[in-house]
Amino acid sequence: MRKQKVAIIGAGVVGASAAYFLSKEKEIDLTVYDESTGQGTSAAAGIISPWLSRRRNKKWYRMVKEGAAFYPNFLKEVMNDQPIPPSIYKKVGTLLFKKKEKHLYELQEIGEKRREDAPEMGELTVLSPKEIKEKIPIYTKEEKALWAEGGARVDGGKLVDLLLNKAAINGASFVPERVTLSQDGKDYIIHSSKGEERFDSVILAVSAWLPDLLEPLDYEVDIRPQKGQLVEVKLENTDTADWPVIMPQGEEDIIPFDNGHVMIGATHEDEAGYDLTFDEVILKEMIHKASQTFSTHFDEASIYAYRSGTRAYTSDYAPFFGQVPGADRLFTASGLGSTGLTAGPIVGKCLAQLVLNQEADLPLHDYPIEQYVQKK
Ligand SMILES: Cc1cc2nc3c(=O)[nH]c(=O)nc-3n(C[C@H](O)[C@H](O)[C@H](O)COP(=O)(O)OP(=O)(O)OC[C@H]3O[C@@H](n4cnc5c(N)ncnc54)[C@H](O)[C@@H]3O)c2cc1C
Repeated sequence: MRKQKVAIIGAGVVGASAAYFLSKEKEIDLTVYDESTGQGTSAAAGIISPWLSRRRNKKWYRMVKEGAAFYPNFLKEVMNDQPIPPSIYKKVGTLLFKKKEKHLYELQEIGEKRREDAPEMGELTVLSPKEIKEKIPIYTKEEKALWAEGGARVDGGKLVDLLLNKAAINGASFVPERVTLSQDGKDYIIHSSKGEERFDSVILAVSAWLPDLLEPLDYEVDIRPQKGQLVEVKLENTDTADWPVIMPQGEEDIIPFDNGHVMIGATHEDEAGYDLTFDEVILKEMIHKASQTFSTHFDEASIYAYRSGTRAYTSDYAPFFGQVPGADRLFTASGLGSTGLTAGPIVGKCLAQLVLNQEADLPLHDYPIEQYVQKK
């Protein structure tokens, strides 16, 4: 019997996760297309800690809560029960700061209620400055912070490499190109520099670029880009591998990785469109703020790299996924905003389940695509 030909356009965390799952299916012939300019996943800060958000959208919360819970078992499966490389994903805990100490205790109370159905959040404790210093020796301030034991950090770029590598071992093809899509009867046609290729099913995992891809098929898409910039500093002779993720008041989160590498950011720039240029003034200001709110050491650290990427938002900030209305076997997800790295693997799995005619792990009706993707 002829294999079902499936294409995935876009290999950020959503497309690469879908590729991993579909590549395991013997009756599927899978091709992945990705040209990674502007990719959110490889630019992302890498914080997996959705439980203490003040956001009230319950459907969004369910997606990110289940996304965070999904990570450890997903990676265990991807790694064939071998240890998960800590440079890709590590549960290091999260430290959350608030202007007023009483807000820490309020948040602790909210978190403890949420923990009833999110045990993966782990212990929630208000730490004294001394206890913070035990975890992060460079801490110089006198403020307390709320510690969430289950918080994790993930390197999006390395995660995608791992997933695509596994998909390739399972037989998937990868084409590193920007492509376009058209339809001919029941077939979808992908146009690349190699010519045209026909597919039975297509997943569009293209985040903020969904309007471009669906325009030739005459769809209007409620998605807009948001630029995010981050700066990576290196603290010399400092072991940062086990430091928790630090979330001070404001935009500047601090995400320590191995060998003294620490990410600081990110910006949320609504007017920048798909622009990716670095603004050194903004980035240096972020380092300075991190120094003021957490530790002066960041001002002294050397700048190692800048990162810039694009997030995708709907007009009401809600994510969606499903089959494109009126387009049989064309599936997509977008609008994952600033928590798409958290939700990405489970959303990618849901898209793979739709291709396989299975019920998705997340309830489709809570993320209604027809509100955001409409025929003109
Ligand atoms: C600076 C920054 C910090 C962030 N921090 C966090 C965080 O700490 N925690 C968290 O949970 N989330 C975070 N996010 C959000 C998260 O990164 C995104 O929501 C998530 O990565 C989106 O994944 P995706 O797979 O949908 O899209 P992307 O990762 O953007 O991937 C889409 C891919 O499709 C490709 N593509 C588009 N059009 C085409 C085409 N025509 N042909 C071929 N390829 C195409 C793109 O180039 C890209 O590679 C952050 C985002 C940014 C920008």
